[in-house]
Amino acid sequence: MKKKVLIVGTGLAGLSTALRLSTNGYEVEMVEKYHRPGGRLNLLEKDGFKFDMAPTFFSMSYEFQELADACNIKVPFEFVELDPLYAVHFEGDEKAYLIHKNLKKLAAEFQNIEPDLEQKVKRFLEGAGAIFHDTEHIVIKQNFDSLLGYLLQLTRVPLKHAPKMFYSMWREMEKNFDSFEVKVIFSLVGFFLGATPFDTPAVYSMLNYTELVHDGYHNVKGGMYKIVEGLVAELKKRAVTMHFGVEITQVEEKHGQVTAFIDSTGKKWEADLFVVNADAAAFRGQILKRKRYRPSKLDQKKWTLAPLTIYLGLDTKVKGMYHHNYFLRRNFKEYANKIFKNSIKLDKPYYYANIQSMHNPDYAPAGKESVFILCPVPDLRYKPNWEDAEEIADAIVADMGKRTGFDFAKHTEMRIIYPPNKWESTFNLYRGSGLGLAHDLNQVGGFRPSNKDESYNNLYYAGASTVPGTGLPMTVISSRLVTERILNDHGHLSQK
Ligand SMILES: Cc1cc2nc3c(=O)[nH]c(=O)nc-3n(C[C@H](O)[C@H](O)[C@H](O)COP(=O)(O)OP(=O)(O)OC[C@H]3O[C@@H](n4cnc5c(N)ncnc54)[C@H](O)[C@@H]3O)c2cc1C
Repeated sequence: MKKKVLIVGTGLAGLSTALRLSTNGYEVEMVEKYHRPGGRLNLLEKDGFKFDMAPTFFSMSYEFQELADACNIKVPFEFVELDPLYAVHFEGDEKAYLIHKNLKKLAAEFQNIEPDLEQKVKRFLEGAGAIFHDTEHIVIKQNFDSLLGYLLQLTRVPLKHAPKMFYSMWREMEKNFDSFEVKVIFSLVGFFLGATPFDTPAVYSMLNYTELVHDGYHNVKGGMYKIVEGLVAELKKRAVTMHFGVEITQVEEKHGQVTAFIDSTGKKWEADLFVVNADAAAFRGQILKRKRYRPSKLDQKKWTLAPLTIYLGLDTKVKGMYHHNYFLRRNFKEYANKIFKNSIKLDKPYYYANIQSMHNPDYAPAGKESVFILCPVPDLRYKPNWEDAEEIADAIVADMGKRTGFDFAKHTEMRIIYPPNKWESTFNLYRGSGLGLAHDLNQVGGFRPSNKDESYNNLYYAGASTVPGTGLPMTVISSRLVTERILNDHGHLSQK
């Protein structure tokens, strides 16, 4: 007997879950609010320019291989490993630091300010790697049925890592390195988790291991959206249907089961099982009206920083820049501690810039360039009004021009800006938070919103704000975890 699954959302987690469930014989239908698939992993196109809308690189590329193997397909896109991983520009410095995976090359970059870096990094990464390997299978890639189960599982993690739960990532940098620049650069991963290195536990230095040793960073030949196009092509072969411009706003239930989701036009979408790829915390509050997730409770949670993204189409090629660039300043601690609360002026921000057409020439017309800038900013709780987004964008573009010697403003032919309110309205990102729920120790594992609903026994979740967490590889793992749950609860159907 066929079982029909309705998936709400076509983000990476939704698409990967659809692929896994259709492989296991489920009939899959998908509904999506936006006009095309991919969620945050999307593409903007204007006047002959293309832009990866949000993610520009990823770690743990082998998770895509695992997905392909589990679904009996070849990975439907090609990885490109980043080398150097990225460039870091500190205000006032003539030269950018290049971050290499090769430790000898990395040490040479910093030889004037951090002697013996190779030995220091090796020692640091040994500890970080041990945490990664000691938690990857025990904690990160596990479903938890209860908080107690999670806490018991944690006891299997070697005790030697425990102290790192109680001091900060910045402290870990201070223990291992001397120069301000190296400490700042290695602690940037704290921001990826949605917090600052000053309040992120040192255990998360395992991310330095994933970037520098384990698998590095990758992007995709032809642009990040090839991931979505590749997965959608496979889903079409399996007759998975997708409906765009459909926003689910209500639930219909009977005897502890969801019978249908209802969209904003009143249309009912029925199925046997339901997987929600929308934010697992916000959906419980806003659509299911759960008390534990009512607005005041959601606002008390720790959310990752919101993005202000700028997309520039330039009338010429950029000179003297790298593909991935961070622009930082020297007031790191002050900035990190104030940015979350909007108590810092945004006229001198920290930001990331990606010259997208540098490696994907068809992202810009011949002789031109497409540039993506991401500036982490306070979410809508702290800064609800973004009427000054153009002004902030002007300041960032001017700053980048001053620091690189290339006049970006003068060469801008077209510009698109997505402030947090636009991110919220486009993909229903709660308060405009870019990566979803943060990864504080009380918001991960058994503490994170579960991928199985507390009340309805045919409702599940996949994506950034359920287990294990945010970022592209994590959402692929999330699709595996939810599929395991569903197969466990409802069985394997005929294998495709
Ligand atoms: C600016 C930015 C930069 C990033 N950079 C990186 C990076 O470089 N590397 C990396 O690994 N990660 C990065 N991330 C994080 C990464 O994009 C996310 O972790 C990942 O894409 C989340 O996928 P998802 O499937 O969980 O959710 P989403 O991509 O958000 O998909 C959920 C989908 O559900 C739809 N939806 C929501 N509510 C409803 C509803 N009620 N009805 C119907 N549809 C609904 C949404 O429209 C959306 O399409 C970045 C994120 C941002 C915002």
